[in-house]
Amino acid sequence: MNQRIRAFAIPLVLLLLIIVVPQLLGKFYVALLNDIGIAALVVLGLVLVSGIGGALSFGQAAFVGIAAYTTAWLTTSQALSPWMGLPLALLFTCGSAWILGGLTMRLGGHYLALSTIAWGLAVPIVFANSPALGSHSGIDGIPPIQIGPWVLDQSRSVFTLIWLIVFCGGWFAYNLLRSRTGRSVRAVRGGKVLLASFGADAFRVRLMLFVVASFYAGTAGWLYAHTNRFVSAAPFSLHASIDYVFMMVVGGMTQLGGALLGSALYIGLNSQLQDLLAAITSRGAQVNSLIFALLFLLILERAPGGIGRPLARLLSRMQPRAKPPALLSSSSKLVHRIMPAKGSQVLSVDNAVKRFGGLVAVNEVSFDIRAGEIVGLIGPNGAGKSTMFNLLTGTLPLSEGTVRFLDAPITRLSQREIALRGVARTFQHVKLRPAMTLLENVALGAHARGHCGLWRGGLRLDREEEARIMAEAMRQLARVGLADRAYELAGSLPLGTQRLLEIARALAADPVLIMLDEPAAGLRLLEKQALARLLDTLRSEGVTVLIVEHDMEFVMSLVDRLVVMNFGSKISEGKPEEVRADPNVQAAYLGSEA
Ligand code: ADP
Ligand code: MG
Repeated sequence: MNQRIRAFAIPLVLLLLIIVVPQLLGKFYVALLNDIGIAALVVLGLVLVSGIGGALSFGQAAFVGIAAYTTAWLTTSQALSPWMGLPLALLFTCGSAWILGGLTMRLGGHYLALSTIAWGLAVPIVFANSPALGSHSGIDGIPPIQIGPWVLDQSRSVFTLIWLIVFCGGWFAYNLLRSRTGRSVRAVRGGKVLLASFGADAFRVRLMLFVVASFYAGTAGWLYAHTNRFVSAAPFSLHASIDYVFMMVVGGMTQLGGALLGSALYIGLNSQLQDLLAAITSRGAQVNSLIFALLFLLILERAPGGIGRPLARLLSRMQPRAKPPALLSSSSKLVHRIMPAKGSQVLSVDNAVKRFGGLVAVNEVSFDIRAGEIVGLIGPNGAGKSTMFNLLTGTLPLSEGTVRFLDAPITRLSQREIALRGVARTFQHVKLRPAMTLLENVALGAHARGHCGLWRGGLRLDREEEARIMAEAMRQLARVGLADRAYELAGSLPLGTQRLLEIARALAADPVLIMLDEPAAGLRLLEKQALARLLDTLRSEGVTVLIVEHDMEFVMSLVDRLVVMNFGSKISEGKPEEVRADPNVQAAYLGSEA
């Protein structure tokens, strides 16, 4: 009930504020707040793509400019209404972001930042040199936005529209980050191997973010054009893009609220400084830049998370951590995969070879796994076990040989496609998102079992599916014994427990075959026993397990069969007692341990 009231009270208060505030403040401050709102919209998008998505963009002002110029041209030369200008401006902006992002998002490292710099430089040059766009003098006489009888030609009247859009933009982004798509957004910095392991595509996630950010920038550009009623190239220069990055960093890169804070601080301070400096020096602009540069360094040094972070921490301390939506009854569960019949062939590896330059890490290895079996893959360090895992999951391409899964070849499939067919895995070097809760990390695993995308997530039309995903994540967390810590951050767990969490994430995918790379490493005896019991339960449920492990005692008592590798080759295979008795194995592995 309490939550209901809050859910209505907050938007109501905000609505009241954006109606009342412009009546209380002087015209100058209202105009300043309008500038802040428009900038905050751009920075909201930037927080999504750069702060959270990790793809630093120096091209946001160019996107603002494309939208502003599009609507300016359409509403002056073509005499269209601003309401026709909006969709066309957004189409142009998002279209150009889609093309630019499509070309550059695959390039790793700094290439994206560099290409957005080139973009940010080039676009304003085009504006300033296109006679149709008014060249250097720009386009003036842009009509104001009109809503029914209201003409928004005063800063007071347009204020409400701007801030309504800012709050809608914030609400959308907030919802998005708490949705299925949003979880993959927040995980995207974990890398494409992590994302593919639960069936998501890091490239598509980044491209989507880039387009979404350009959508925010485009909306801001439309508002800018019809608020100022004049556009020229200068406000969309690379310099302006850098200012947006500055606002994001100052506000707190990963916080939506930081977008508001950063743009308010930057624009507010800038306006105050300009007046002050104009009174005392003739080189106001230079001194202003200098002051901002120093301020930037100071903030990076003293508060690297931005000034929004301590504030956010304070807020979260005042407010208990949000509990998930009410978990639905057991009747509405996620769809469960049909498991293959016990004993039928699940995985078949035929003469797998992997060469790294001259090194043969996997050398003509063949083995089969049948449904409902636990198979151990063992061998000394450097034997090629992890490489074998990477070949089976599509993380690395095979040099030679074939792999079949459920009677279909998967040799050439991508990691993501293999994951979608029902192969889940954990990693030898744990890949978790430390700033997400245990529950959210596990919910990532169920990604491919949901369907709600960007729009349904952002508009909160995904609640039913979300509840199912969360219920499933909770069920898997309970299975590995971590249900009572569901709302803690994954980063706070000891390493051994993080491995258990990865197992829960893999299980949330409802896999046919689950592959575990050294799951018992770092676990205490009791935890190992619990893990063994869990794997035993999985086997009885028809899940097939392939496990790489160092702890011989653990493996021997658990598995149905062992495959032993040494120096890339398979040297033995069979039941635990057969393998233990095999002189080859004793020589290569057990002997060296004894
Ligand atoms: P294990 O998991 O059995 O300890 P790995 O599969 O990690 O062994 O490694 C097998 C061999 O392949 C090692 O000699 C390792 O150095 C080499 N290797 C693994 N990955 C790569 C890579 N990406 N590039 C080059 N060599 C690699
Ligand atoms: Mg390994």
